Amino acid sequence: MKYRSDRNGVQISQLGYGCMRFSKKGNSINYEKAEKEVLLAIKNGVNYFDTAYVYPGSEECLGRILDENKCRDKVYIATKLPQYIIRSSAAIDKTFNEELVRLRTEYIDYYLMHMFTDYAEWEHLKELGIEEWIAAQKAAGRIRNIGFSYHGETEMFLKILDAYDWDFCQIQYNYLDEHTQAGRRGLQAAAGKGIPVIIQVKQIIREREKVSCTGCRYCMPCPHGVDIPGNFYYYNLMYMEKKSSARFEFAQNMGLRREPGFASQCIGCGKCEKHCPQHIPIREKLKEADSALRPLPYKAGIYAARKIIVK
Ligand code: SF4
Ligand code: SF4
Repeated sequence: MKYRSDRNGVQISQLGYGCMRFSKKGNSINYEKAEKEVLLAIKNGVNYFDTAYVYPGSEECLGRILDENKCRDKVYIATKLPQYIIRSSAAIDKTFNEELVRLRTEYIDYYLMHMFTDYAEWEHLKELGIEEWIAAQKAAGRIRNIGFSYHGETEMFLKILDAYDWDFCQIQYNYLDEHTQAGRRGLQAAAGKGIPVIIQVKQIIREREKVSCTGCRYCMPCPHGVDIPGNFYYYNLMYMEKKSSARFEFAQNMGLRREPGFASQCIGCGKCEKHCPQHIPIREKLKEADSALRPLPYKAGIYAARKIIVK
């Protein structure tokens, strides 16, 4: 295993372990299998384990494995504050304490604001006193590094990156994300500030793509707010991963943005198509993408979730 230093010189394995998809037995996590897999990863040098408050059963499972096998001190835990459901300062504290209990630990090595897509989300947390809260947790040794995970666009990423003295950040990056998500510019900006970046890599098989969109963004901005490459990204993802998980990611990462950029906002003006070097019939493909990504139950679910979550 190869290792890289974080800001404090701590050696993190280049390969981390994502605990979002522990093996299942029926609808629950298969604890015995997950335990074997986690222990095998540790034996082979993996020391970075990534979970989140909203991954069902994941924090409890990881906490139990580390506790029962007495290996908490062999690993670094990354978990996340579900900022999109946080409405008060008390909720920040309550959620974090619950995570400590679930993970059977007294401290979190890498604590992330989960899934920022918009600067307004950070501003909302600041109004709730998150900066003072982070300082207090760090001083008490309950949080060792503070960061954020990101699923929006490059410009917004750069703004959030500059808004606070982050210890690290986590982005989704692979050759298909060079110009989407935080993108290469975001990655380079973080590196330029000396902020370590954790990468979520997706297995991408281009032949399965439905739209040959490279994410270059020459078609943007759409005067009606459609996130053209974003819609195509998740549409393609449906054919590279499980359809349901791509739809779920779309719902989470685009559907809950303050300005979601749905394909249904397209009025068919055709402006974008003149700029597409791939000559993609964008209007036609957007319609396809929208019906694939938002069949009726998902549309209703996203609508309901937006009512509750989007501030
Ligand atoms: S055709 Fe649709 S997506 Fe393209 S610029 Fe016009 S409104 Fe936007
Ligand atoms: S210009 Fe074409 S290839 Fe580039 S992002 Fe837009 S649709 Fe995709």
